Amino acid sequence: MIPSVLPTYNRAPLHFVKGEGAWLTEADGRRFLDLGSGIAVNALGHAHPALVEALTNQANALWHVSNLYEIPQQQALADKLVSNTFADTVFFTNSGTEACELAVKMARKYFYDKGEAEKVEIITFDGSFHGRSSAGIAAAGSEKMTKGFGPLLGGFVHLTFGDLDGVTNAITDQTAAIMIEPVQGEGGIRPVPDAELKALRQICDEHGLLLILDEVQCGVGRTGKLFAHEWAGIAPDIMMVAKGIGGGFPLGAVLATEDAASGMTAGTHGSTYGGNPLGCAVGCAVMDHVADPDFLAEVNRKAGLLRQKLEGLIAEHPDVFEDVRGSGLMLGIKCKATNIDVVNAGYDNQVITVPAADNVIRLLPPLTLTDEDIAEAVTRLDKAATQVENA
Ligand SMILES: *Cc1c(COP(=O)(O)O)cnc(C)c1O
Repeated sequence: MIPSVLPTYNRAPLHFVKGEGAWLTEADGRRFLDLGSGIAVNALGHAHPALVEALTNQANALWHVSNLYEIPQQQALADKLVSNTFADTVFFTNSGTEACELAVKMARKYFYDKGEAEKVEIITFDGSFHGRSSAGIAAAGSEKMTKGFGPLLGGFVHLTFGDLDGVTNAITDQTAAIMIEPVQGEGGIRPVPDAELKALRQICDEHGLLLILDEVQCGVGRTGKLFAHEWAGIAPDIMMVAKGIGGGFPLGAVLATEDAASGMTAGTHGSTYGGNPLGCAVGCAVMDHVADPDFLAEVNRKAGLLRQKLEGLIAEHPDVFEDVRGSGLMLGIKCKATNIDVVNAGYDNQVITVPAADNVIRLLPPLTLTDEDIAEAVTRLDKAATQVENA
């Protein structure tokens, strides 16, 4: 008999009932160190007082109004995003994949309005992830996500990750944009080298294409900059954001330059919930923390500390781990053992990691984790690795 919850997930038998900082409490009372943050969502950890306050204050005042009316919290969050990024304008969604939908629509409308309606194709890369909507799975293109769900949304050209020559060769009169994650998340924490991001920006400029960055996972302070592309000293035309921006409240956004967004006039797009007062009140509180240079400096300091300790851990368990990669507090440990076995051994030792493609375990801890949490993380991962060795 089918479970009452549609069984699209293989769930671990863990029932968390409370969270505080980087710690989760299981129904049986055990405390788990959370190095997953609900997949890079709880950027400020669990139950951060500023987020609880923002949410409860807003909940006591007003939960929801339609986008038919002015929403001051939405205006405030848009202003914060605009003043801290390349963007001139923002549309709010409830999720990352909805941001992908708008990014695709925006790029196509841009060229349509310029009288170049043939430009509809978007170049994407293998191993990428853009969410589970029809546009999202077509954009990523992997058979794992698309099989059985055809006909797929057309207009995506899939290239090999890192193949810059392939990009130049794939550009035709129909090409509108290049869409890429600066650090692939689901694909196994594969960072795009700065030089490559710069080259993609240049290719877009030379061919009049739009550069769409998917920073749903790597954005919002995760890599130690507010957004990951800042490390490469470039800016996109359109950017997808979600996960960390809501700190646990479902919230996403598309950020764009005035030019790229020029086709999106009244009536061309919409959302019932996107940018509602609750979500945006929380988003403002998240931004007030993560956009602070002192906060980002701390993320970088802690990232250095964690990475250094992980290098030591990997050296001690050469049969379990291979190497560590990634940026800031978005780290992937490539495993020699099966990654799921390592994740499960982590559960046994009350530390949560997240599996990814390429036999990687992801560490996406709350950006607020403490030095003591880092020491505890390495102790627990060490125990998990020993357990895998002895299995
Ligand atoms: C999670 C993710 C998405 C999809 O976000 P949802 O909120 O699950 O729809 C899109 N792109 C990237 C890079 C992601 O990590």
